[in-house]
Amino acid sequence: ERGRLNRLRHTPAVTLDGEKVELVANIEMPEDAEGAVKAGAVGVGLFRSEFLFMGRKGDLPDEEEQYRAYCKAIEGMQGLPVTIRTVDVGADKPLDDSRRDAAHLNPALGLRAIRWSLAEPEMFRTQLRAILRAAAHGKVNMLVPMLAHAREIRQTLSLVDFARAELDNRGVPYGSVPIGAMIEVPAAALQVRTFLKYFDFLSIGTNDLIQYTLAIDRADESVAHLYDPCHPAVLRLVADTIAECRRQGKPVSVCGEMAGDTQFTKLLLGLGLRSFSMHPAQILAVKQEVLRSDTSRLVAWAQQVVDAEDPALALLA
Ligand code: PEP
Ligand code: MG
Repeated sequence: ERGRLNRLRHTPAVTLDGEKVELVANIEMPEDAEGAVKAGAVGVGLFRSEFLFMGRKGDLPDEEEQYRAYCKAIEGMQGLPVTIRTVDVGADKPLDDSRRDAAHLNPALGLRAIRWSLAEPEMFRTQLRAILRAAAHGKVNMLVPMLAHAREIRQTLSLVDFARAELDNRGVPYGSVPIGAMIEVPAAALQVRTFLKYFDFLSIGTNDLIQYTLAIDRADESVAHLYDPCHPAVLRLVADTIAECRRQGKPVSVCGEMAGDTQFTKLLLGLGLRSFSMHPAQILAVKQEVLRSDTSRLVAWAQQVVDAEDPALALLA
């Protein structure tokens, strides 16, 4: 099976009815970029920047260290686009043990991701400058995690403007960077139109979207049986987000685990998704599924699955 899949590495991901599908990689370290290219990824859809911040003794990475790390990933991708996500620490990704969120009752609902970045604007601007500078060396997109409020969106974008002005003042070159938002809080999925007013693209983070929609801690084994990507409420939020992006002609992808799970490839294609970001090891299996799919025959079926009381059953029909 592996050998057969390997032959698909250089095959473009196009459906039977000629729809082009973008299969890109989630990476955690700059060194993962080369493996992503080898696995057949046509870009990085999610470069998690947490590795720069986690497990350090008090200090945070400076602009140079971040700039070098982002450049390394860009170089590894050999001209393919890299989507760098701004830092997403807190909850399941604690900064370090001493700052562990144990003191907080609900760390997943606490100061994580963009909330932490907006609470530490100097730290955040340092990261933004490093990303903007790295964009002078390749195609870079910036992705912002965990946004829920329009106010957070405006604050984020004005800090990006501020970071650009700082680089202008220093006379340091930087590149142009499309900016996107993660849709991973139900409040965001229910406000897609507001998000599309401000952002160039959206990326659906199903890992957190499931956690927050179903009130299931994604890291708590005792409720893992209730963590359900097929819950109708989850599928409704995913479907509506994709549909609104398509109506407005804005790029949308899924970068949670769902994107790399072949059980869901046909469903997501039927809902109109054309960009999937996943662990590199999943790319060939998902590509095989794409090559076997006829999206024109999946649209009505996908709506039925989303509308079903038990979509997991409908998915098998
Ligand atoms: C997600 O929430 O689906 C996601 C891709 O981000 P992370 O798993 O890093 O929280
Ligand atoms: Mg997430």
